[in-house]
Amino acid sequence: MYEDLKGRRVLVTGSTQGIGWAAVQAFARCGARVGFNGRTAPADLAARLDELGAQGGEGLFLEGDLSSTQACRRVVEGFVERFGGIDVLVNNAGGLVARKPLPDIDDAFFDAVHDLNARSALMTTRFALPHLKASAQASGRSSAVILVGSVAAHVGGGPGAGLYGAAKAWLHNIQKNWVTYHSADGIRFNTISPGTFDTAFHADKSAETKSAIARGIPMGRLGRPEEAAPAFLFFASHAASGYITGQVLDINGGQFMP
Ligand code: NAD
Repeated sequence: MYEDLKGRRVLVTGSTQGIGWAAVQAFARCGARVGFNGRTAPADLAARLDELGAQGGEGLFLEGDLSSTQACRRVVEGFVERFGGIDVLVNNAGGLVARKPLPDIDDAFFDAVHDLNARSALMTTRFALPHLKASAQASGRSSAVILVGSVAAHVGGGPGAGLYGAAKAWLHNIQKNWVTYHSADGIRFNTISPGTFDTAFHADKSAETKSAIARGIPMGRLGRPEEAAPAFLFFASHAASGYITGQVLDINGGQFMP
C-alpha cells in the first residue's frame, strides 16, 4: 500500500514520541526517507535509526525547539542538506505548554502557546515551501503539507486550554489561504485533527479522568498513536490523495462530528 511513498523525503516535526513517532515509523515502513525532530535527541537515537532502516526506510534526527523561527529554518536546512529536498512536510510539533484559565493568561503564556502551535507550523512551512514546489515540478507529483490540528479547534479546548484550541483553529484556517495561493505550485495542504489520543499529552490526567473521557466517546476509548498514522500516509501519497486539498480529517472515535 502507498507504494509511491518509497524513497519520498518526509519531514515530521515534533516526532520523538506519540502521534509523530508513530507516523515516522509508518513512513519508514513505506520505504520513505524520514526526518524526525524534537527539542533534544532521544537517548536511544542509534537504536531508532537502526529500527527505521530495518523497516525499509532511512531516518535522520534533527534537533530543534521549533518555537523559534531560527530552529525551524535550521531543521529544514538540515533535512535538505541530507536528502536534497522535501516532498512531504508534517507539522506535528504542538502541545498545551500548560493549562491556564483566562484570568491567568499573560503575554508570555500567549506567546509560548502560539510559538509552539502556530509559529512553528507557519515558519517550517515557509522555509520548506521552495523545496516542496521544486519537488512537485521535478517529479510531476504533488507535494504535501500536513498540519496537525485538534478536536480542540472545533470545540474550544478543555480546562485551561483555550489558547491551545484557538491556536489549533488558526491552523485549521490558515491552510485555506495556502490552498488558494499555493496549489499552483503543486502543493496540497491537509489537516489531521485528532480527538483524545492516549499519549504524553494527557500525562497530567488520572486514570479516572481518562476513563471518564473514554465514556464520552462513542467508540468508548481513547485513540492510539498508530491509529492516526495511516491518515498521514494517505495525505502524503499523491496516488491516494492527489486531488484532495484543504480538508480537515477528524480522527476521534466519534467524539466530535463536525
Ligand atoms: P506528545 O506530547 O506525545 O508529543 C509531542 C511531540 O512534540 C513530542 O515528540 C515532542 O518532542 C515534540 N515537541 C514538543 N515541543 C516541541 C518543540 N518546542 N519543538 C519541537 N518539538 C516539540 O503528544 P501527541 O499527542 O503525540 O501530540 C502530537 C500532536 O497532536 C500535537 O500537535 C498535539 O497538539 C496534537 N494533538 C494531540 C491530541 C491528543 O489527544 N494526544 C489531540 C489533538 C491534537
